[in-house]
Amino acid sequence: MSENEQPTCQTLLCLLSDYVDGELSEELCREIERHTAGCDNCRVVIDTLRKTISLYRASAAEPAEISTETRDHLFKTLNLEDYMQH
Ligand SMILES: [Zn+2]
Repeated sequence: MSENEQPTCQTLLCLLSDYVDGELSEELCREIERHTAGCDNCRVVIDTLRKTISLYRASAAEPAEISTETRDHLFKTLNLEDYMQH
């Protein structure tokens, strides 16, 4: 782990589920956007996650929140479960 002030990929991925839910503070969203601007890895992860979630939403009969179960499954599919802290 480096000691610079930039959030690491792992820190960032821990915040991802809140980020895609739009539940993060503006400040943290900006941190994530700044990081992904320079990190292809995280940008791909976020893009994939967003697309997948919008597909889930589009295929739902009526607009619904994504359940925790579905989201866990999604993170598992994307091999992000190690980053899920809750
Ligand atoms: Zn990264």
